Amino acid sequence: MVRINVLDHQTIDKIAAGEVVERPSSVVKELVENAIDAGADAITVEIKDGGTSFIRVTDNGSGIEKTQIGNAFLRHATSKITSADDLTKLVSLGFRGEALASIAAVSMVEMISKTPEDLTGIRYVIEGGVEKEKEEIGAPTGTTILVRNLFYNTPPRKKFLKQPQTEGSYVADLMEHLAMSNPRVSFKFILNGQNKFYTTGNNDLREIIYRIYGKDISGELIPFQKEFDGMSVTGLLGKPVINRSNRNYEIFYINGRYIRSSLISKSIEEGYREYLMQHKFPFCVLHFQIDTNRIDVNVHPTKMEVRIADGPVFYETIKQAIHETLHAQEMIPEVLLTEEVKEKQAVRQSVPEPFEHRRLEQTVMPARSAAIQEIYQKSRPANIVMQKNSILHEAITYDTNSKEPSAANGMGAEASPVVLDKTSETTAQPVIDKAEQMELFDDKLLSAKAKEQYEILGQLFETYWLIAYQDKLLIVDQHAAHEKVKFERFMKRFREHDMISQTMNPPMIITLNGKEKECYLNHAGDFEALGFVIEEFGGNEYAIRGVPMDLYGYEEGEFFYEILDELVDEAVTGTPESIRIRIATMACKAAVKGNTRLSREEMKKLIDELLTLDNPYNCPHGRPTIISMSKYEIEKKFKRIVT
Ligand code: ADP
Ligand code: MG
Repeated sequence: MVRINVLDHQTIDKIAAGEVVERPSSVVKELVENAIDAGADAITVEIKDGGTSFIRVTDNGSGIEKTQIGNAFLRHATSKITSADDLTKLVSLGFRGEALASIAAVSMVEMISKTPEDLTGIRYVIEGGVEKEKEEIGAPTGTTILVRNLFYNTPPRKKFLKQPQTEGSYVADLMEHLAMSNPRVSFKFILNGQNKFYTTGNNDLREIIYRIYGKDISGELIPFQKEFDGMSVTGLLGKPVINRSNRNYEIFYINGRYIRSSLISKSIEEGYREYLMQHKFPFCVLHFQIDTNRIDVNVHPTKMEVRIADGPVFYETIKQAIHETLHAQEMIPEVLLTEEVKEKQAVRQSVPEPFEHRRLEQTVMPARSAAIQEIYQKSRPANIVMQKNSILHEAITYDTNSKEPSAANGMGAEASPVVLDKTSETTAQPVIDKAEQMELFDDKLLSAKAKEQYEILGQLFETYWLIAYQDKLLIVDQHAAHEKVKFERFMKRFREHDMISQTMNPPMIITLNGKEKECYLNHAGDFEALGFVIEEFGGNEYAIRGVPMDLYGYEEGEFFYEILDELVDEAVTGTPESIRIRIATMACKAAVKGNTRLSREEMKKLIDELLTLDNPYNCPHGRPTIISMSKYEIEKKFKRIVT
């Protein structure tokens, strides 16, 4: 006889935990949302080992009553709704009453909490869903929760986690998004004992961006605002000069919640259209307020997608409003040698713990401390004194365009971006008059002869290669060059149906929903042309047995879905050919992601290959790959030649 067992509640919790707790970042998300729901205005998050061994979230919110603390860890226990009716008028972030129960089921949790009314607090320890300790304890008002050894009792889930560094980068991304979505809350984020960032909670979005992404980004933002029919949006649009190489910096929130939405992404990108070079995406942080009856918020707890009613109208309105805002601005990039360094509010090195925060609010923040000043200085790799109309000047202008902020995960960032020191001492105050493209290559470099004639002199700023060629000094941007070569190679293979795939063993099984499946079937040929090997696996399941070669830094499944999402999106229109090209360029982007540290040997190979291309001078984004300075020009600069 087959016995049908009723599972005990610990087993049920463990299974259900998989719904809410996928990885350390999902734990942090739930805990921070709880702190926000509890009215905290100062929240500290500390993680170690990517959050796998240690997560601590401290807040100065309402705290939990001693008698209630055990209840908080019961499944479907919540103080936020009492019946399904409340769901429609939901304002709090959490409401399912699942998070604490789920987290406690798969880790070792310790919570210390005190309400403002009580004189003492309570300490509660629960491991694997089993209560271990409960005692009265002296504590500040608010809640501290420690989550240790995530998935210690569910080894298969633990195995599924990525390297601590990667998990840590997910948490860092999340913290940045949370900080920007809650500008009134002061956040402090500590990663492996190091302060990552601190925001003051003064409701200034631009300042938060400054603290997270630095002044090169925060100095290039345009305020954006639009109200229409049951919706409003406010925020900051990055000027095209800070366009990014991926979509990670299209940051938007709906009613305070960080959301990914291809509809919104597309509307923003279309608004930027004429300012976006190929493969470039805008930087923006936008807060949407949308009537709750016009969006579907009751999505899966770990998912960030949302459905919006009247999608097409929404899309058009946002696109148009962004277009108009950008148009109203003067977009000529300006590079000044001496620029007033705006006095930013001081970044405090030691920041208050959440419970101290209110008390310290009265104290005056000291002017930018010497220590911070020092850190600031150290983060500048080079002082570049620019000269009016020099070629270097032009090169640097371009580099500023493409510079990535120091993304915590290091992915997608270009190698060692040059930081302009705008405070460099100089008497001149030049502005670029015109950024004209040099006419460099009269005597073509493309000959076999040229290959024998050039000499690699060395590398500058870990990014540029200096090359002597005849009477010229050539400066090659290794990243742009690498990208160009890869792009050409890739497109050639794609056109000639000669893509190389890389076998996945074991194959990855994916499940497509109806719309996705239909879309996949329509484009199965394109996926194949790209190098995907996909087989039916029965029903809505497919087995990915091969993926395009060279997907550096991309996860195979992620890439498949990214292309599919793009295709599913109604906003993608165009001829099948244009869609194919688009897919190919996306794929190319994947192929060149990440840093490219090159040895001299590799550089030589790269230059040789670059020189075989029809147009080696520009990367696919239109940036130059090579600039040149003639002997004549150099001699003029040294006043050996006077004209
Ligand atoms: P939900 O947030 O969906 O209600 P949780 O499991 O996340 O469910 O939390 C359960 C309950 O515990 C919350 O409803 C709230 O009453 C209480 N709680 C959790 N975290 C905090 C906190 N940081 N401060 C005060 N109360 C909290
Ligand atoms: Mg919650």
